[in-house]
Amino acid sequence: MAKQSKGKCAFCGQEIAKSSAAKHLATCASWQAAMAKAEGSKRKSETLYHLRAQAQGQVQFWLNLEMRGLAALKELDHYLREIWLECCGHMSQFSYGGWGGQEIGKGSTIAKAFEYQDELTHIYDFGTESVTLIKMVGVREGKPVTSHPITLLLRNVPPTYECQECQQPAAWLCMECVIEDDAQGILCDLHAENHPHDNYGEPMPLVNSPRLGLCGYEGPAEPPY
Ligand SMILES: [Zn+2]
Ligand SMILES: [Zn+2]
Ligand SMILES: [Zn+2]
Ligand SMILES: [Zn+2]
Repeated sequence: MAKQSKGKCAFCGQEIAKSSAAKHLATCASWQAAMAKAEGSKRKSETLYHLRAQAQGQVQFWLNLEMRGLAALKELDHYLREIWLECCGHMSQFSYGGWGGQEIGKGSTIAKAFEYQDELTHIYDFGTESVTLIKMVGVREGKPVTSHPITLLLRNVPPTYECQECQQPAAWLCMECVIEDDAQGILCDLHAENHPHDNYGEPMPLVNSPRLGLCGYEGPAEPPY
């Protein structure tokens, strides 16, 4: 279905191979400038965590984030819901090891959560679950580049899809195809317009989220700040 594994740097806009994300930041002039500017601000210096969020089983969906060490996991939960997951206010949890693993309270700080482990699992919705692996890929001491608990560094570029009818680039998803016909339900503009199904509403836009097509998820898949 989707093939790309490239991401876009949120600071310079360059497209980067997934495996080179951390290497890119070390040489990204825009990111270096943002960090230098932050050092001149009145914010307090603290330990900042470089995290890679990876949708389990969907390699094309990933994020690189910088998060304040003193910020709580609930901020990360909120961020993941906004950018990827939120459909109808399901429960979520963090743990070491996923289902059956040791749960970590959302009041825990990032610094505490990563004190002895370098990977957490986030599960959203205990029915039709979306699982995100959160790996700590680095830390630095410094001032955060924004006043928010989390800064987006890189995000996967939207995967490209082909229309199931004509193989042209697609932008729409039909849930009736998915649920009742066991088809991909991926449609181009033209075929979305003429599509005969409406049991689950009109075809919806394909957005940049691993939760697309699950439960009632419809996007918008935008970061909260
Ligand atoms: Zn960059
Ligand atoms: Zn839902
Ligand atoms: Zn088409
Ligand atoms: Zn359909």
